[in-house]
Parts: sequence; C-alpha cells; structure tokens
Amino acid sequence: MMAAQKITTLPLIDRLPPVRGRLEVNKPLGSVTWFGVGGPAEVLFRPADRDDLLAFLEDKPAEVPVTVIGVGSNLLVRDGGVPGVVIRFGRSLGTIEAAIDAGGAELVCGAGALDVNAAKAAAKAGIGGLEFLRGVPGTIGGGLRMNAGAYGKDIKDVLVWAEAVDPQGRVRRLGVADMGFTYRRCAISEDWIFLAARLAGRADDPAAIQARMRDIQEARLASQPIGSRTGGSTFKNPPPDESGARKAWQLIEAAGCRGLKVGGAQVSEMHCNFLINGGAATAADLENLGEEVRRRVLAESGVSLEWEIRRIGIRGDATRAAREGET
Ligand SMILES: Cc1cc2nc3c(=O)[nH]c(=O)nc-3n(C[C@H](O)[C@H](O)[C@H](O)COP(=O)(O)OP(=O)(O)OC[C@H]3O[C@@H](n4cnc5c(N)ncnc54)[C@H](O)[C@@H]3O)c2cc1C
Repeated sequence: MMAAQKITTLPLIDRLPPVRGRLEVNKPLGSVTWFGVGGPAEVLFRPADRDDLLAFLEDKPAEVPVTVIGVGSNLLVRDGGVPGVVIRFGRSLGTIEAAIDAGGAELVCGAGALDVNAAKAAAKAGIGGLEFLRGVPGTIGGGLRMNAGAYGKDIKDVLVWAEAVDPQGRVRRLGVADMGFTYRRCAISEDWIFLAARLAGRADDPAAIQARMRDIQEARLASQPIGSRTGGSTFKNPPPDESGARKAWQLIEAAGCRGLKVGGAQVSEMHCNFLINGGAATAADLENLGEEVRRRVLAESGVSLEWEIRRIGIRGDATRAAREGET
C-alpha cells in the first residue's frame, strides 16, 4: 500500500519574501481606517521604502492577493477581514518636494504623503492652486485612485504625471490622459499601485494661499462631521439628468434618511451623505445602513445611488470565515 502523501499548506507569512519593513499577521485594520471598524488583514505589510515595496512585489508568489490602502478615509473594511496581503503606505513613501523655477511651480509627492501635508508644503513654498487638498483627509495614492477633489478642483486638474507599479513589477509613468479620470474614479487597473505624483500649481503669495486654506478648513468644519468616525461621502452624486440635478445628500434627505440608524451606525444629522460609527458599529451595520439608504432613495426618487466608499474584505466574523474557508 502506498504511504499517504502529506500535504502541508504553509501559512501565508511563511510564503512571503523577507522585507526590511514590517509584516504583521492577522492585524486588525479598524485602527488604521477612519470608520474604526472591520476585521484583520491576513498579513499587513508596511514597506520600509519604495525599494522594499518593489522587491516585495517582485518576489511574492503571484497568486497571493494584494490590497493597497492609504489612511482608510474612503474605506469600509468588512468584519471578516481581508485575505492576502494588505499594503499600507506610511511616512517612508510620503516624501514631498517643491520645485519652483522658470518652468513652473510644482510638487512631487510620494503616494503615502497626506493630502493635507501636500497642501501645507505647497503653501509654504508659495505654490498656489493646490489648496483644495487641504479638504481631503487621505493620501496622494488614495487621491489618484479616487480622483479626489473638493471646492471645485479634482486631482485630474493638477496632475502632471503619476508613477505606478503594475502587477509584473514594472514601474510606469502615466500622464493625465492615461489615467482615464472621471468623477471619483480613475481607469487604471485596480491591481496597479501608485507610487508618486507630480502636481502643478502656480507661483503665489504664501499668505494668500494660507488664507484660502483657512477658508476651506472653516467651511469643512461647518458642514462635515470631521471629528466623527466616518468615511466621508458615502455615495457619488448621480448624473444630473438622472437625479433632476439633486445631489446625493438631497436625495437621502428627501427619502427621510437623515439620522437613520442600523445597530451602531447612523446617517449623520449634520451631513446626510456621511455615515457615522457612533462607537459600537460593526462594518455590517454600516454597510446595511448604506444599503437601506439606497433602497429608500430608489423607492422615493427612482435614483439608484452608487457607493463612493470602497468596501473591501469578506463579510462576517473572521474566525468563522477562516474555519469555513469562506472567500
Ligand atoms: C471627513 C472626510 C471628508 C472627506 N472629504 C472628501 C472630499 O472633500 N473630497 C474627496 O474627494 N474625498 C473626500 N473624502 C474621502 C477620502 O478622503 C478620499 O477619497 C481620499 O482620496 C482617500 O484617500 P486614502 O489614502 O484615505 O485612501 P483609502 O481610503 O485608504 O483607499 C481608497 C481607495 O484608494 C486605493 N488606494 C489607496 N492608496 C493607493 C495607492 N497608493 N495606489 C493605488 N490605489 C490606492 C485603495 O485601494 C482604495 O480603493 C473624505 C473622507 C472623510 C473621512
């Protein structure tokens, strides 16, 4: 009789190449996202620098799924967690350099740089036109993926080029036309990771730029629940011909959803396109509340709202999911 063959399935961490940064197993993601909910990453990777990231991507087994996150300001991580490797950009990929010369006034930012820090660096260097970044609480990488914008400007309006690494590990430089930007999205494949961006402004007086940034900050404080656990605008504004030019928040209000609750999740009283984790919400509460809002808006106005917040991972309890092999 033939001896039974022993099949060993190595844990993911043992199949990954060595890195200089940090690899953490079963790392809860709630603490690194704005909503403060969700299950763990099977493995969380914080690269030490760009070379560390590129070497990791080249050497990791091709079948291991990778999800990149910024600071999770547009992200709902489901309660069952995220299989594979989650890569979180940090300070090491957050360099910001200003370049003002006869050729123009520009900023080169690593994808991990916070938008707010890019705005502040631009102001300090006397580069105007990037103040809108003060109002977006994410990273440059997240901003490229989402074509983030505020106060009449989006990333697409200021981008000179973006640098990204494709799944084969090749670093590409992409111009605005390559990015296929539309409202809160870009057309670059989801498995490409942005590394850096060059943004163009114009030479301006630092004091005037600072004043405009203060105005933006005051307007945000007055209109958005930015001190809460939220993910920003939950739904995209629908095309005006579909919604009769009503914005998402107006449709949500008309459907009677302001303040609506599911479990520990609530539609913000202050800005009803924002969902809030009141402290005890699960990701399922937030997602179910969002779906209930979509149902009520559809019933009331016939408009089908599209999620702007990205939902990642698997539903349910992480332990049960792992036991049952749920994907
Ligand atoms: C209070 C509040 C106010 C907000 N106001 C605005 C606003 O005015 N305008 C606006 O546009 N948004 C706003 N947002 C949403 C959010 O800040 C933006 O979408 C931001 O660009 C997300 O960046 P992030 O780094 O947090 O990305 P995450 O939320 O971490 O990720 C968002 C998406 O980007 C992808 N991603 C992140 N980094 C990279 C990378 N390096 N390469 C490839 N893909 C990447 C992720 O995979 C995910 O799909 C707001 C959010 C909050 C909480």
